[in-house]
Amino acid sequence: SQVLLEVNNLKKYFFLNKKETLKAVDDVSFHIYKGETFGIVGESGCGKSTAGRTIIGLYDHTEGEVIYEGKKVHSLNKKEKFHFQGKMQMIFQDPYASLNPRSTVREIISEPMEVHGVYPDKKERLERIYQLLEDVGLNRDHANRYPHEFSGGQRQRIGIARALALDPEFIIADEPISALDVSVQAQVVNLLKTLQKKKGLTYLFIAHDLSMVKQISNRIAVMYLGHLAELTTSNELYKNPLHPYTKALLSAIPIPDPDIEDKRERIILQGELPSPINPPSGCVFRTRCPYAMEVCAKQKPSWLKVEENHFVACHLYDKKVTGDFDGNQVAV
Ligand code: SF4
Ligand code: MG
Repeated sequence: SQVLLEVNNLKKYFFLNKKETLKAVDDVSFHIYKGETFGIVGESGCGKSTAGRTIIGLYDHTEGEVIYEGKKVHSLNKKEKFHFQGKMQMIFQDPYASLNPRSTVREIISEPMEVHGVYPDKKERLERIYQLLEDVGLNRDHANRYPHEFSGGQRQRIGIARALALDPEFIIADEPISALDVSVQAQVVNLLKTLQKKKGLTYLFIAHDLSMVKQISNRIAVMYLGHLAELTTSNELYKNPLHPYTKALLSAIPIPDPDIEDKRERIILQGELPSPINPPSGCVFRTRCPYAMEVCAKQKPSWLKVEENHFVACHLYDKKVTGDFDGNQVAV
């Protein structure tokens, strides 16, 4: 498949004061194929939202690069950036906070089109707004109402309609369903899937809940304290998780069929997520890892390719460290 977006050694640091630096995203690399849903999962504070915002250009980056259709996102000139903004859109976690309460639905969906000067004809634009409302399961009667008149799920649909207004190719959905009632979460996920098929969209889907990410993602990256722990296909991540942190996340998910004997290795996470201002040396997961070895404090694990499409950052899988692992992995 064709690569749409490449993230190479991306770093996003926040320099808080002379002494303290918050390393929200610290040397993260992956690529996203055209038409796929790429999931990023991790606890709150792991840097996944910051990664999304940096990729789309809402935040400036500290180091590394993001390449979208061959162009470096952070080196675009003003005009290119503007054009690029139309192609990439974001759906936010909180449909309440992300919609202006004083604007009608029509005004909310119209705004990006006005800013970008598309559908300048008023009548055509209104038709477009009606079409977008239908696309997200609402209707034209909703156009003149205000956000507070809608349920959480409907508000998220309005947010999705707004994100679609400029006909984007790539959408970053930052926890789009975690603020919603469980009963409507599946509906919104299904809507996103339908829209993806219909419009050929590529998604970066960010969530803290692994079972949620699995439903929609082709591949999943597990993120911990600014670093990627593991990256593989959705199925492989469930069948054959390698990183102790991934195993811990999976341990928290009940197995769907109670008749199947659950043979999974259970890892219960110990302690708190350390601060990204002062992360542990070596492997950032070591303070909570039941397998931590001496080397884990001294050396940052390499990003290992253990199989085609399966990457992990853990010394347990590094032949050079363990000396006996018979895999065929290479550091990349
Ligand atoms: Fe645990 Fe060490 Fe692997 Fe880190 S590198 S996950 S501390 S075993
Ligand atoms: Mg977040």
